Amino acid sequence: MNKYAAEVLNRLVTAHPWETVFLDSVKECFEFISPLLDTTEDYYRSHALLENMVEPDRTITFRVPWIDDRGNIQVNTGWRVEFNNTLGPYKGGLRFHASTDLSVLKFLGFEQTFKNALTGLPIGGGKGGSNFHPRGKSDREIKSFCRSFMIELSKHIGPNVDVPAGDIGVGGREIGYLFGMYKKLRNSFDGALTGKAVSWGGSPLRPEATGYGVVYFLNEMMKIKNVGLAGKKVAVSGFGNVAWGVVKKVNELGGKVVTISGPDGYIYDEAGISGEKVEYMLKMRNSNNDRVEDFAKKFKVKFFAEKRPWEVPCDIAIPCAIQNEVDVADVKNMVKNGVQFVVEAANQPLSISAVSEIVKTNIMYAPGKAANAGGVACSCFEMSQNASFTRWDEETVDRELKKVMQHIHSQCHESAKSLGHEGNYVVGANTAGFRRVADSMIDQGIA
Ligand code: GLU
Repeated sequence: MNKYAAEVLNRLVTAHPWETVFLDSVKECFEFISPLLDTTEDYYRSHALLENMVEPDRTITFRVPWIDDRGNIQVNTGWRVEFNNTLGPYKGGLRFHASTDLSVLKFLGFEQTFKNALTGLPIGGGKGGSNFHPRGKSDREIKSFCRSFMIELSKHIGPNVDVPAGDIGVGGREIGYLFGMYKKLRNSFDGALTGKAVSWGGSPLRPEATGYGVVYFLNEMMKIKNVGLAGKKVAVSGFGNVAWGVVKKVNELGGKVVTISGPDGYIYDEAGISGEKVEYMLKMRNSNNDRVEDFAKKFKVKFFAEKRPWEVPCDIAIPCAIQNEVDVADVKNMVKNGVQFVVEAANQPLSISAVSEIVKTNIMYAPGKAANAGGVACSCFEMSQNASFTRWDEETVDRELKKVMQHIHSQCHESAKSLGHEGNYVVGANTAGFRRVADSMIDQGIA
């Protein structure tokens, strides 16, 4: 790692030793921007750039009391990390999941800053959420929680300030409850949230956008190798909104998805997950059930309890679930099984050591901050539509989404190539994203 980057990382480790997930993401980023820092170190050091970049602009922590179905008062913690607004309003999702804490949200906000920069659109980086876990909660409990969460969050967001959206555990239903309360509290109908339903301000294709964008990015990678998706076997993890979009687009382009997974294990479907099985994925998610065993029973396919799908022979692996779901042993399995492309649809699903391992192999690997940016790009299209009181049609959104993904791909490719790391998308994504944010921070006087 570059010397300046290592110094800043060491100071961060001393200051926040318990924020391990956040520290991992900074370490990974610093590792892969080192080829650029090696020639620009003095310049960035003279602006204390890295020190400023790893410090969120603001973190907000709040109490979220809510009432369960038995009439008992419950309490969770809520957060919003407003990481960096150099390029535009803070933008990034809300995650409702038991594993959420400040370290996870700082990692996600940091990643989001670079991801949003790569889109070329005017959006900064932020992330928020709660350790509230939707599993097993009734619709009324979800509503009670969302309303209470927004009572506090509404003080900090707005269409030009900070624009939250969905993430794990937050989909169209939750955005609806959150928006209803925001509108009431602020007496303003505006684009302070994205991921809204199309009938009241949402963008066509927003639910599909992350998954579609991942597959558009994969397509660009495959073009470099002169291959196409038709006939390719694909392993997918997760079964939520992102996995659903990936499965739909892979099917459309002639590939075959043979796995999906939940915290209980994975299912293997030799015939491929298509037709009514695809829609059933969303049905499971909306019933707050995160077990895929039910899917296996309903469609009579194989279920592997407590296992992850990375042991399955396939051409392409697309992790769509959560951070650190792929470790070194999984990467070794992928190599053994002949996997040629690994594309991150989730945020940082490969552990930091899995990333170090995969870049040593012949697998073409794309990090989430590049490949899964289609969701947030479409959110930005939603902000444009809201600000101009217009509605784009589906073809326009899809065309613009494709353009953004191609733009990200070419930036990653060119940036890596210019540094002598052609084909290394981690170097490409990190250096291209870093450069846009860093140089803009300097333009603005590191304010
Ligand atoms: N949560 C998504 C992400 O990780 C989308 C964020 C957004 O649309 O603002 O990029």
